Amino acid sequence: MKKPFCTRCLLEELDDETIYETVQRTIRSISEEKRTGETEYRARLMGCKECEKLVQGMCRVCGCFVEVRAAYRKKNCPDVHPKW
Ligand code: SF4
Repeated sequence: MKKPFCTRCLLEELDDETIYETVQRTIRSISEEKRTGETEYRARLMGCKECEKLVQGMCRVCGCFVEVRAAYRKKNCPDVHPKW
């Protein structure tokens, strides 16, 4: 049974396994030196989960899947007042 529409969900919480797997594969392909550490990564995602710009795993400011954007160490939150 499909879950209801959730604006503050990450992809890992949604039912779309195709997109989720694609995103996870992309994250796994990021080299270790470019990837955000796990503690920082989780803190970034928690910031996104509390953000009104998150819609179904995607940031309305930049159009990125936040789970990918947050995985790049040098990327930041693109909002006017960045949350991470
Ligand atoms: S504006 Fe920043 S905190 Fe909000 S969803 Fe986008 S990346 Fe995440």
